[in-house]
Parts: sequence; structure tokens; C-alpha cells
Amino acid sequence: MDEITDLFRRAAGHAADYRRSLPDRPVGVPVDQAALTRAFAVPLADAPTPPEQVLAELVAAAGPGLVATAGPRYFGFVIGGASPAATAADMLAAGWDQNAFNAVTSPAAVAAEAAAGTWLKDLLGLPASTSVGFVTGGQAANTAGLAAARHQVLADAGWDVERYGLHGAPPVRVLAGAERHATVDRSLRLLGLGTDALHAVPTDGQGAIAPDALAVALRDVGPGPTVVCLQAGNVNTGAVDDLRRACELVHRHGGWAHVDGAFGLWAAAAPGTRHLVDGLELADSWACDGHKWLNLPYDTAFAFCARPDAHAAAMSYTAAYLVGSGGVPAAADLTAESSRRARGFAAWAGLRELGRDGVAALVERCCALARRFADGLAAAGFEVVNDVVLNQVLVGFGDDARTDRVVGAAQADGTCWVGGTTWRGRRLMRISVSNATTTEADVDRSVAVIRRLAG
Ligand SMILES: *Cc1c(COP(=O)(O)O)cnc(C)c1O
Repeated sequence: MDEITDLFRRAAGHAADYRRSLPDRPVGVPVDQAALTRAFAVPLADAPTPPEQVLAELVAAAGPGLVATAGPRYFGFVIGGASPAATAADMLAAGWDQNAFNAVTSPAAVAAEAAAGTWLKDLLGLPASTSVGFVTGGQAANTAGLAAARHQVLADAGWDVERYGLHGAPPVRVLAGAERHATVDRSLRLLGLGTDALHAVPTDGQGAIAPDALAVALRDVGPGPTVVCLQAGNVNTGAVDDLRRACELVHRHGGWAHVDGAFGLWAAAAPGTRHLVDGLELADSWACDGHKWLNLPYDTAFAFCARPDAHAAAMSYTAAYLVGSGGVPAAADLTAESSRRARGFAAWAGLRELGRDGVAALVERCCALARRFADGLAAAGFEVVNDVVLNQVLVGFGDDARTDRVVGAAQADGTCWVGGTTWRGRRLMRISVSNATTTEADVDRSVAVIRRLAG
């Protein structure tokens, strides 16, 4: 066998061994971070090292520090595991080493993104004319969506923000729920709007924007450039804003409605949850992750915009040697990246693998398993604090100290991994079911361990 075939097969073999071990390995393991750092921190050699030795050293050094986030009993943050076809496609993306910058650097990457983008819009029920930027995460998608928003609300006020920046511009007011994701604040900072531009809109008992409160907030800010950040999927509770009423209010005000739907937008893809995001198609831009609930590899996310002209005006750049600028937006006109990995191959493969029914089943199964988690812990006498409408569960174990002890003990035990959070002033266990491989048995086993540790 030639050297490169042998090397790639070895890498794939290591990855497959690791994936096979996931159901049985401890999910979170105590890690000696200093030892890990030392294992990597060999002196940089003057002479080259043979590739097969590099691979062996990497596997040995990284092994103790890998977290089984891709496995069936990782319930931390909102983390899914990459599906088999999507992972294999991502390996090919690395092997093919394509630059998804535009159709000259990789016609195939651009075609895959175009096809996957069409499927995504169809699954989510977004207008067919929506532009899709393949970005690195929900953070980047929020930034792109809010950049398009900034462009449009200022253009409507007669101001060219791409040309003049914000110096001397009419003030842009941003309204967002009090329980928005923190990445929204960072996007506003990066866009020069600043967090002082933010008006926090009060939320209801589950952390969703209360439409009446939004109406009051819009009246209070009065006429002028206005952007409203809505949310599909509160990171703690899973709650979704009333998108239909909110978008109608925002548009009546002449504003731009952006939806941060990093994971919650996927409610749109399943008949059992579709009602939660009713009216989502009325928004102007949407941020959605592929690497969370859709079980695509990192770093895959989508910046959708109902106004492709505003999207491209905000994000594109031109240079004499570039094609695609000027006419139809090219891939690089819709993202903050210029050269980038061809993440559309994995998105295409993951969607092709699941199909429409598979995506719906993934969403509904995770929601059902989250309810099973909640029912199991409630039956044991613990307090489920949120309405489990989606894949998120918040649990209290009495006082904060006891809850923190249970969360810590569960993390150290290694059967499963659950997070801790502070919500409405209380420490709580936060459980997110986002992995396609999680079964009822995984949930039952995890509930049993948590019950034992809390007892
Ligand atoms: C995870 C998340 C983000 C950030 O997404 P990344 O992919 O981590 O950049 C933004 N908003 C919400 C609601 C999220 O859950």
C-alpha cells in the first residue's frame, strides 16, 4: 500500500475505534490538564517527522483528553454527535482539501452548499428565495444576520453603513429578550452597535419574550432604525418566542426581525413541534446551527436571510481578481470568512442520510427522551422547573448547594454528563438531549445514576 493510503486508513481506523467505544466509555473523565499539555508540548524539532509517527503521537497525546460529547449519554450544553455519513463526508472534505470560497476555487463545494441550502430551507419552512451563508456556528450566524439587519435599517434611514460606518449614523436600537443567548451581545459589540444599544424585553415564566412586553418596548423606543432579536430555543428552558406575533409587531414598527434559532429552529422540521415556531417564516433573518441538534460535524451553521441583497451588502467584499462579486452573491459574499473549509459536503451528506422523515424523527425522539428524563426525575421526587416543550430539562434538587453537589457527582461518575446552570437566581441541573444515538435505555440508566447520587 502506498504511504498516503496507509496513513489515511490509519486515521479513519482510529476515528472508528473511538466512535465504537462511545457507548461504553466514561463520558466525562477527570483530566490532568497539565499532563495533557505536557504530552503535546514536545520541543518543535528541527528535522521533519514522518507522518505515521506524527499520527501515532497525536492519538497517544489526545486520547486522555477526549470527551465523549459524540456519545449517547452526553447531555451537556446543547451538543449533538456528528452522524456517520456526515463524519465520513467531513473526512473527505479534509482529504479533498477544497476551499469553499467560491465556484472557481471549488465548484463542487459551492454546488453541495447550494443543494444543502435548498434542503435546509425546505425542512425549516423558510422562503425559497432566502440566502444561506455556511458559517462556523450560531455566533457567526447571529453576526451575519445582525449585520444584514444593521445594513437594512440604516439604509431605510438613508444611511450607507458599509461606506460611512457608524460615525454620525442615526442610532440603531436593538431589542432582545432578557434571556437572549450571550452571543447576541458579542455580535452587537463586533458590529459596533455596542451593548448599550440593547433594550432588554421582559420574558414570560419560561424565558420567552412576552408579546405584550415587546409591543410596549417598541412603543417606548419610538420611530427610528430598530432591530429585534427573537429566540427559538431558550438555552435553559427550550422556550420559543411567539414568532408570529413578534414579527408582526416588529414589521408594523418598520423594524427587522432576527431569530436566534441555534437549536430551536429545528422544531420546524417535525410535525409534533412545528407549532412551537409558528410564524418563523415572517422573520427577516435566522441563525441556525447544524453542529448541535442536526448532528453535523463542527463547525457547521447557517446564516439565513430573507433579503439576499441586504445579506450580500453587509457581508460581501470585492477585489479585481474575484469572480462572483457584483452579480449573483457567491459563497464568500454571505459569510465573514473568505477562504474556508468545504463544510457543505458534510451538511449535504448528513441531510441525505437522514431524509425528511429522519430529521423529523431525530427532533421528536430527542423531545420524547427529554420528557422521559423529566418524568423519571420528577417521579423520584426532584423538581423539574421548566415546561419541557423541546429537548431541554431543568431540575432542582432542593437548595443550590445540594443541586451543585448532585451535578458535580454526576459529572465525576462518568455514566452521563449533565451541566449546571443558574436560571432565575437558582442553581439547576441542565439536561439537553440532542444526540441521534441516545436511546430510552441511555436515559433510564442516567436517571438511575442521578437518583442514586442524589439519595
Ligand atoms: C449555542 C447557541 C448559540 C451559539 O452557537 P455556537 O454554534 O456555539 O456559536 C447561539 N444561540 C443559541 C440560542 C444557542 O443555543
